[in-house]
Amino acid sequence: MQSAEQHEALLRVQGLTRVFTSRRGLSTRHLVAVDRANVTIPADRHEILTIAGESGSGKTTLARMILGLVEPSSGRLLFKDRDVSHIRNRKSRMWFRRQVQPVFQDPFATFNPLRKIESYLYETVGNYHVAPRKQADEPIDRALNAVGLSLREVKDRYPSEMSGGQLQRVSIARALITDPSLLVADEPVSMLDASLRMSVVNLFRDLKARQSVIYITHDLATAFYASDRVAIMLRGWIVELGPVQKVLGEPKHPYTQLLKSSVLEPDPRQKTSERVSLVAAEEGEFLRVGCRFADRCPHVMDICHTVEPPDVPVAGRLVKCHLYNGSLPDAKAEEVKEPSKEPALATTTAPTPV
Ligand code: SF4
Repeated sequence: MQSAEQHEALLRVQGLTRVFTSRRGLSTRHLVAVDRANVTIPADRHEILTIAGESGSGKTTLARMILGLVEPSSGRLLFKDRDVSHIRNRKSRMWFRRQVQPVFQDPFATFNPLRKIESYLYETVGNYHVAPRKQADEPIDRALNAVGLSLREVKDRYPSEMSGGQLQRVSIARALITDPSLLVADEPVSMLDASLRMSVVNLFRDLKARQSVIYITHDLATAFYASDRVAIMLRGWIVELGPVQKVLGEPKHPYTQLLKSSVLEPDPRQKTSERVSLVAAEEGEFLRVGCRFADRCPHVMDICHTVEPPDVPVAGRLVKCHLYNGSLPDAKAEEVKEPSKEPALATTTAPTPV
């Protein structure tokens, strides 16, 4: 296998866009679920990049494009310097799928209750030609060991005989069998009990020694705990991208500030009002001219209703907001409250063995 150091970047997402079209009666509607996303995962080190946002932000569609499960409408996806935006031949698809493996949300839906768990693992070895059938135990056991299990523990068991946390570990082990360079995990802990979540999040931190991980979540606490960098999505846009300590420790974009305060706010009355402004988001925000957050933003300016905000480098991260465009006469960056005195996001659940 080629070493990651030989490539300029492990993954380059360049202007990646996905438009969904729906028909209602005689009218056709276009929804830009992901709008010109740009993200790079380096080749010279492993990292956990979290893509976070509320429901409908476009994070899952972006993840599915990176996995090759949804075709981009425009833009490019480069993996190890190869254009994988629209893979047409089987050999290239097989190469890519060995390199980039998914971990899905619901471990209970991943496994058929009537099939033995080991059958999925042997099937993966066969599908990707990892080893001959007679030698399949070795890569399976190695992958299970990486998630704290063994083939002996899994052998002859059905999904109902394992906990949700164990099943999600098996699901991750299945993804590891091909020795991928990148795992894309879409809400991998959201279906687990709170007591089991941290052990799976910790597992991803351990797996970073082997490969990079894209972690999709709406949960800022686990994002803060697990990630190196975070991209905050709003209605198809990446609105803030940078090191997690900066973006979630001292958010600059008004939307990131709102998301963070809705997680941390100790005043239950204020929490309710923040929730109201979060759920007030509608499909219409995707279509809005100017900034898609304008109707909910406490710092909105006239320009926000007419001109799309630029991506501006601010204090070690990129922020898509007019507030930081120093050339604007009515920019009021100085007036933006720094939330740095707020407590850092922290997970309160202690790691628990699955
Ligand atoms: Fe608020 Fe304007 Fe920035 Fe959008 S561009 S987040 S409306 S200040």
